[in-house]
Amino acid sequence: MQLAPFKNEPLSNFKGNSEHFRQMQQALEDVKKELGAKYPAVIGSERVEAAEVFHSYNPSVKDQVVGTFPKGNSRLGALAIEKAEKTFQTWSRTPAETRVRLLTAVAGNLRDRKFHFAAWMIYEVGKSWAEADADVAEAIDFCEFYAREMLRLAGPQPVTPVPGERNRLEYIPLGVGIVIPPWNFPLAILAGMTTASIVAGNTVVLKPSSDSPTIGYKFFEALEQAGMPPGVVNFLPGPGSTVGDALVTHPRTRYIAFTGSKEVGLRINELAAKPRPGQIWIKRVIAEMGGKDSIVVDSETDLDSAADGVTASAFGYQGQKCSACSRAIVVDAVYESFLEKLKNRAEALKVGDPSHPETYMGPVINGRAKESILQYIKIGTKEGRLVAGGREAPGHGHFVAPTVIADVPPDARLSQEEVFGPVLAVLKAADFDDALQIANNTEYGLTGAVYTTNRAKIDKAAESFHVGNLYFNRKCTGALVGGHPFGGFNMSGTDSKAGGRDYLLLFTQAKSISEKASS
Ligand code: NAP
Repeated sequence: MQLAPFKNEPLSNFKGNSEHFRQMQQALEDVKKELGAKYPAVIGSERVEAAEVFHSYNPSVKDQVVGTFPKGNSRLGALAIEKAEKTFQTWSRTPAETRVRLLTAVAGNLRDRKFHFAAWMIYEVGKSWAEADADVAEAIDFCEFYAREMLRLAGPQPVTPVPGERNRLEYIPLGVGIVIPPWNFPLAILAGMTTASIVAGNTVVLKPSSDSPTIGYKFFEALEQAGMPPGVVNFLPGPGSTVGDALVTHPRTRYIAFTGSKEVGLRINELAAKPRPGQIWIKRVIAEMGGKDSIVVDSETDLDSAADGVTASAFGYQGQKCSACSRAIVVDAVYESFLEKLKNRAEALKVGDPSHPETYMGPVINGRAKESILQYIKIGTKEGRLVAGGREAPGHGHFVAPTVIADVPPDARLSQEEVFGPVLAVLKAADFDDALQIANNTEYGLTGAVYTTNRAKIDKAAESFHVGNLYFNRKCTGALVGGHPFGGFNMSGTDSKAGGRDYLLLFTQAKSISEKASS
């Protein structure tokens, strides 16, 4: 089997292509009619209800229900694991090419319904048109990329010849994986961790975020429509705080693929480390977690381009990306003029309901997040000087104005803790070396960027800026599958490099097979 070389899915062009614009508007109309529906959990081929339900809401229109779901519990969790384990017996022996074909079929399904998937994200998690479109494109990329990667891993692997033996190495699957994604890339990350799991031959219990279960269910349906056999992925919504522990601690769970906050990631890591009665393996934990990402702005740079990059990185999707710039570290010589440019840009951003095409910033995900962000703004205004925003924004949803707080000391809470909202701290550095030192002073190490035209400074930063994804003279968000394998250092996670050539190895184990050659 051969597939064309991997290429990133092109983004839609809502400004320049009237057909894209029309299709997006139509999709928003279509999806609006489906809001409020009830969905089941799916274990094997069974659609399952539960005594208790929960709702996901449109963060732009607080009380508008997007979907109603059964509240998974430990009993359903155990059933889902049992089903996944049974299905593993057949799926793990299904030829790699069949599994690869499933992924390319899913990619085709997502491509055909791109605008509808984007519309679901606009309603369920408050993405702008462009952000939602990019999320779908990334999901398609993951399917296509991991399909090709599996073909590579399923092929012959190089081993050193040993005289008198026939030797080979095969990558085989692990077993039952628990996939736990966040809400902020509700399609791309969920699809990435799920498709990597199943293309490698594992079976999955997928627990979507409680803020974005509908998108999870729509992806699950896409898998079914693409021909996935029942039980390969089992869809189990429910609160992470209850069903999560049950799934992670179950003795038949072989691995956990998690993306989310540091707190939850560390908890999963700790619980997974403890063997349970009947468990015969060390559970593997793939955990991608938070960030406190910095952009360094040097004096030798185009300040307008730097201000554009910082603005997009800090306020794109309301700052709710693990890769978002939450600290601009600016050298003294250009500090005030850069701040002025930043203030103008932040104040010009259009905040509102993202179902309107001209909206740049939608709502934050829920009321709890808004309260926490406003609390950080309060702390930040004590630690530094408020330059822009600093308040809620009007509307029926959870809107927060893009906020810039200057003169924040490097050890202040606003410099150290992940806010996960549209709040940018600006820190003053004496010079470029000082800026690099500050950039490395958190417990995280996910993304970072540097704006400078000086080659020696670029080389120095490339060596010493300790993050998993480092960019020069561009924004620190927007990693592309294949081009920018994504994952962080330190408390940002296990550096699993999603969308890279090492990723599928995390979902497999290598078996070395040696046969004495008959003479
Ligand atoms: P979160 O609160 O940690 O939740 C992530 C997932 O974990 C959700 O599905 C959640 O379910 C589940 N969960 C909660 N408690 C659990 C438990 N005890 N056991 C098992 N699962 C549990 O994070 P989030 O708010 O969704 O996402 C934002 C965070 O993700 C930020 O810190 C961001 O930086 C990080 N993130 C990192 C990356 C990366 O690649 N490094 C990418 C995206 C996001 P419920 O929704 O039901 O609580």
